Amino acid sequence: MQKINCVGVCNGTGSGKLYILKDEQISDLKNEIDSRLETAKFSNAKSRAKRIYDDYTKKAASENLKEAADVFMAQKEILSDEEFDKFVVDLIENENISAADSIRRARDYFCDILNQSDEEKMMARSHDVYEISDMLINELSDEKDSNDALFDSDERVIIASKHLSVSLIIRLGRERIAGMITESDGKNSHAAILAESLDIPVVTGCLADDLYPFEGKETIIDATDNLIYVEPDAITLEKYSEELSYKDTLKNIGDTKMPLSFDENKIKIYANIANANDAKEAMKKGAAGIGLFRTEFIFMDSYESPSLEKQFEIYKEVAEITDGKEVIIRTADIGGDKKVPYMTMLSEGNPALGLRGIRRSLSEPELFKTQLKAILMASAYGNISIMFPLVVCRDEVVQAKKYLREVEDELKKENIPFDENIKVGIMIETPAAALMADDLAKISDFFSVGSNDLTQYTLAIDRCNSSVEKYYDSHHPAVIKLLESVAESAHKNGIKAGICGELASDITMKESFIRMGYESLSVPVSKIDALHGFLTDI
Ligand code: PEP
Ligand code: MG
Repeated sequence: MQKINCVGVCNGTGSGKLYILKDEQISDLKNEIDSRLETAKFSNAKSRAKRIYDDYTKKAASENLKEAADVFMAQKEILSDEEFDKFVVDLIENENISAADSIRRARDYFCDILNQSDEEKMMARSHDVYEISDMLINELSDEKDSNDALFDSDERVIIASKHLSVSLIIRLGRERIAGMITESDGKNSHAAILAESLDIPVVTGCLADDLYPFEGKETIIDATDNLIYVEPDAITLEKYSEELSYKDTLKNIGDTKMPLSFDENKIKIYANIANANDAKEAMKKGAAGIGLFRTEFIFMDSYESPSLEKQFEIYKEVAEITDGKEVIIRTADIGGDKKVPYMTMLSEGNPALGLRGIRRSLSEPELFKTQLKAILMASAYGNISIMFPLVVCRDEVVQAKKYLREVEDELKKENIPFDENIKVGIMIETPAAALMADDLAKISDFFSVGSNDLTQYTLAIDRCNSSVEKYYDSHHPAVIKLLESVAESAHKNGIKAGICGELASDITMKESFIRMGYESLSVPVSKIDALHGFLTDI
């Protein structure tokens, strides 16, 4: 084992194979070039890089990585910098140098000037110039990238390089990068900010060249204790095993299940809505349907219990707005933190564990049946499904469906049309439901995982209590394992599974969700664009 001192830049630990990022060198060869062709290649590479930067900016913004989004915008400006442009074109046209080598020379020239300044801002600018240049060289399609081996593999790696690169982080993603070793970047460099927000540990204080003898070796970096271990011994592995296995759980999810595909047909982006206006917005943004209509807001927005007619009008309007696309209407999840002033709300010591969700509906059958009737009546006007919240056992579903059948009988007698094949699904929001998913799948048409509550109940952390907020972690291995097994049970029983809690909008988890086999992600309307951008982009 080799133990190397370093300086932590972004805290955390990670393990993977050491990879030394190869620097693209200026070639000494003076080949005959067609300067018109090289200029055109440079110009095309700039256009492609601009598009990539637009997408990066969108992705970063959607993940609330505001600073990263600002970096991308600033870096994109360099692509329109006249001085940089002129320098490259002059070299191509007057010195007969290829586009790639001209960019490298421009990169070195401008970075040298910027690095001579003591100002941190200028140094950061030099990193931007470096990044942009690398991106442009990558975009010159006939250039062989000396780091191809890195991109062709799917191993988890610790990358050592002169500079951290924002585009490299985005390109490989958190699942591939276990950590980074940089010669020059500090905490405030743009790439470090991005790495930090993605929970990638980063260290500095050693030269990439000095690490060459260890390339390909298993390595652990501990940015908190300022150490790098190459070929860690058993004691060191043991010391880090708990922390690292946590991360492994994330990266290994569903490795052997469905093939990874970002084909948009394989995963649908649905919207979470609370009213008809949200449905309109969702349709404008191209949502494939409504994955969660939180109907309790209709009750919370009223001074009295909304009548059958009022509810029918609202559900019908949403069914019409969505024009044949699936609308999953969740029966009212009243109780817990969702109080309705005109309803009897017991004073409960633990409201989150009290009378809420389906158990509350079953305790007030008339109210529940009115809602079911309104939903069924609206089902004649679109593609509606029903979903029950906070299920913990089979009996609740059986009982809820019994009420549904009673209402169907009433409607038949009254000659009121409704969808006789309406799908009835359940939310998986409790560890009990997740653990019993195999059983529940036999009496459900679909599952939708409510990761907000599933996290709350699995980790025993009140989702509304800010003093324990830092412990509320939807990526906790226990939650992830439940997500994985729920999808497995759904598939085994031939029903569909989606996710509709906040975790569904977590772009860093998308590959994992697809691998697990989730068919839909239902997200707030404001997140739809970002998810679509991400999926079509890969
Ligand atoms: C959830 O629990 O993840 C969910 C979508 O339901 P709500 O946030 O309305 O409780
Ligand atoms: Mg919930």
